[in-house]
Amino acid sequence: MGTWERRFVEEAFEENWISTVGRHLNELEREFAEYTGLSAVALSSGTAGIHLGLKLLGVTDGDEVVSPTLTFAGGCNPILYERARPVFIDSERRSWNLDPELLTEFLEKRAKRGKLPKAVIVAHLFGQCADMDPILEVCGRFEVPILEDAAEALGADYRGRVPGTLGDVGVFSFNGNKIITGSTGGLLVASDQEWVNKARFWSTQARDPGADYRHSELGYNYRMSNVVAAIARGQMRVLKERVRQRRAVAFRYREAFSDLPGITLMPQAEYGTHTNWLSCFLIDEEHFGVTRDDLIARLHAANVEARPVWKPMHTQKLYQGTEVIGGAVAEDLNLRGICLPSSSSLSDEEQDFVIERVRDACPAVSTVKSTKDV
Ligand SMILES: *Cc1c(COP(=O)(O)O)cnc(C)c1O
Repeated sequence: MGTWERRFVEEAFEENWISTVGRHLNELEREFAEYTGLSAVALSSGTAGIHLGLKLLGVTDGDEVVSPTLTFAGGCNPILYERARPVFIDSERRSWNLDPELLTEFLEKRAKRGKLPKAVIVAHLFGQCADMDPILEVCGRFEVPILEDAAEALGADYRGRVPGTLGDVGVFSFNGNKIITGSTGGLLVASDQEWVNKARFWSTQARDPGADYRHSELGYNYRMSNVVAAIARGQMRVLKERVRQRRAVAFRYREAFSDLPGITLMPQAEYGTHTNWLSCFLIDEEHFGVTRDDLIARLHAANVEARPVWKPMHTQKLYQGTEVIGGAVAEDLNLRGICLPSSSSLSDEEQDFVIERVRDACPAVSTVKSTKDV
């Protein structure tokens, strides 16, 4: 937390606006509208945002929706909420995000058969944007709308543009594990004010105007609370600082491992700023000397939390039998990718402890050391 969060929360209490209406909600939406240049609606989670985003794009029973296979469940499960059918597409090595070439081939093939998907979800993973230009080109050519899942990319940029603003609908998350947090929460942006109004309507149980409880449409309890908005507003004021801190953590690891073989920071694509929300590395067993799983086990034994990169959706029991285009890259990233402790609040001493444990796990280190001594 910074210093503004508690102050805004206290204001919410003093003004006695604790629920899903209030000044901080309006202000958060206004501040996001300013940040993105679009209209914004604050929601209870990023997942809720993905769900309402798909509904805005007209996704319904039996429609096909493209999603990267490498993503978090919250980014694609809403496809199933609408009884639509996901088609998973592999990642590219350069960004670890949706492969624009595979997407292009897929849409060209589908266009020939006259069976285009209803929408494409693009996720910007670990703090880095997908390569949007070719994705926008091909989706524009075939008039397939894009929902940008920017849950992990708040603070990043793509050629100077804010992720979440390049497609038709953009979604952010204020979950506790993200670069900034409201304790929970999400937010949807779109250029079309009518769409944003519609999402706000759905998020408050789709209650028709008037004092009595009339409903003509199915709604949801998806609105953010004013208290959560107060925290999120405070956090927006430290976003730049958090990006600086996360990048510093990742680059300090990279520097500390520069003499080790077989451990490399995830690629930093030249087209934008990678926040390095998580410090992700790839382990090459042949050179590093132990597998990624061995490294995680060694770290856990030293009380250092480390996790694999996301498990691809086409390998999940939930999505068994779902169509997947490629998949080998995502599987490899999941097999060899590791997320090291990445907190903005990680002290140099704590990070040194992690660095030493990683170095201890690498059998090549002793050789490296002795060569240096000579
Ligand atoms: C966190 C996350 C979500 C879901 O956001 P919540 O606020 O946790 O519902 C969706 N997609 C991705 C890629 C995420 O990392």
